[in-house]
Amino acid sequence: MIEAQNITKRFGEFKALNNVSLSVKSGELLALLGPSGSGKTTLLRIIAGLEFPDRGAGRVLFNGEDVTYNPAASRQVGFAFQHYALFRHMTVFENVAFGLRVRPAATRPLETEIRRRVIELLSLVQLDNMDKRFPTQLSGGQRQRVALARALAVQPKVLLLDEPFGALDAKVRKELRRWLRQLHKEIHITSIFVTHDQDEALEVASRVVVMNKGAIEQIGTPEEVYDRPANPFVYNFLGSVNLFHGRVHGGQVHLGNTSLPAPEHPEAQDAPAMIYVRPHEIHVANQSNGQQSLPALIRDVNPAGPLVHIELERLDDGAKFAVELTREQSRNVQLTPGSQVFVELKNLRVFSEDYSI
Ligand code: ADP
Ligand code: MG
Repeated sequence: MIEAQNITKRFGEFKALNNVSLSVKSGELLALLGPSGSGKTTLLRIIAGLEFPDRGAGRVLFNGEDVTYNPAASRQVGFAFQHYALFRHMTVFENVAFGLRVRPAATRPLETEIRRRVIELLSLVQLDNMDKRFPTQLSGGQRQRVALARALAVQPKVLLLDEPFGALDAKVRKELRRWLRQLHKEIHITSIFVTHDQDEALEVASRVVVMNKGAIEQIGTPEEVYDRPANPFVYNFLGSVNLFHGRVHGGQVHLGNTSLPAPEHPEAQDAPAMIYVRPHEIHVANQSNGQQSLPALIRDVNPAGPLVHIELERLDDGAKFAVELTREQSRNVQLTPGSQVFVELKNLRVFSEDYSI
């Protein structure tokens, strides 16, 4: 449905996007996820027609048609941005109706049709009976939902959301992302959602595009990018992770006196390795399990919350790492700060190229 092909965009000398390609399927909710400055907004604006790629450096296709240099107004996209303020002097109703009222007379719906559509949209965003209020009489979350209803009023083919919940507090954001997911299930409009919040992307999107420094690091379903990160950047950006330094040789990775299989590197000959393990994928025991377990000292135990957070230190090189156990798991092991335990890395990924993060 939407394709961005080999897009490069410079601002002066600075390359904000470097040969980025991406395709968005009809009806999907795609998240562009990346740290601040990674090029998410620039890419979204190029898809919207508010910004253009460098001359000859990429194309944007809508349903196979080249729209790269077509103006935004011709693309039938709806927007909602973080700071896309509502018109303060207009009621909720008039805010939502705005896009329809400014149409040229020939394509403007009749007043009764405008009314019907606005009331329907307000119901869709769960703001029934709020039509006469002014924006100042709404909460932040309600205002964002009005902004979304306004974006949807013109019946866009594509919905583009740039950090739509960015300005709201954490609890409201959580509610709204559940709500957005539900809304998308109901209306199935092709949507691109920009966020720097990994939880938001993983929870809301059908696919996630992980961006970094103007390039795409990985595209996949939330499960794929979380469980099988393509590289250390994605590992670090999506959730907490421990990094262990070791060496890889003949299909085995060596960490201190411990050896573990590293079948993805059969050729490596005593090469430096970076081993990534998520805190909940480490088993802790009071006794050694032979070659597979790594001795460590318990530094700190924090049992507050649903998980028990443990800080440990490798006995061989003193490197610190974190483990999360469920309360159930923590009952099977003695967790005294200062005492020695043995850890087993249950699910690790070994990267052996030199990769800077
Ligand atoms: P993100 O949305 O991921 O935070 P942006 O796409 O807004 O990133 O910006 C990417 C990079 O391009 C940033 O370093 C930003 O400063 C730069 N940039 C964005 N827009 C402009 C502009 N109009 N002029 C100059 N630099 C810009
Ligand atoms: Mg941005």
